[in-house]
Amino acid sequence: VARPAHVHVVNALPKTRSGKLLRRSLQALAELPGSRLAAVSSLYASDPLGPADQPRYVNAVVALETDLEPLALLDALQRIELAQGRERKAERWGPRTLDVDIVDIEGYTCDDPELIVPHPYAHERAFVLIPWLAADAGARLSGEGVAKRVAALDPKERAEIRPLGMMEEL
Ligand code: AMP
Repeated sequence: VARPAHVHVVNALPKTRSGKLLRRSLQALAELPGSRLAAVSSLYASDPLGPADQPRYVNAVVALETDLEPLALLDALQRIELAQGRERKAERWGPRTLDVDIVDIEGYTCDDPELIVPHPYAHERAFVLIPWLAADAGARLSGEGVAKRVAALDPKERAEIRPLGMMEEL
């Protein structure tokens, strides 16, 4: 499908401890100006590293078609993080309520500390690669199929990323 040259295809990853907050962040992404959610993975749960009594993380990967420039998009994502973060006290979410990272931008690379694209974790983290592949079976990262990277993951690591059904209690 031909796209106007100014439209960027961006893979973004919202990550939080609350399924409700994750769904809200997906809504906020869909409402970004000049943007359209082209694909959304299901939600995935993973256990945090470190102390075992911490709540799991919930994340998804979305494909966003946007005419926002990369730095403007980063700014917009940080606004979403802040807007959601305001509610954390009342609802007792963890200390890090919502993180929305840019995983990759098709045809674009950047190596500023402010914006690193592809994201340094994109190549190797199961919680990124598995949902990304689910959102887009033809996904590519730095010229290589994401499917190939998923296949190369440690099976134990792969098994730790659990898809959540849409009706599942979050
Ligand atoms: P963190 O709190 O670890 O998510 O880091 C947030 C900081 O990372 C922000 O201030 C961004 O400027 C910077 N950053 C660099 N590359 C990216 C990226 N691909 N997506 C989101 N934030 C990024």
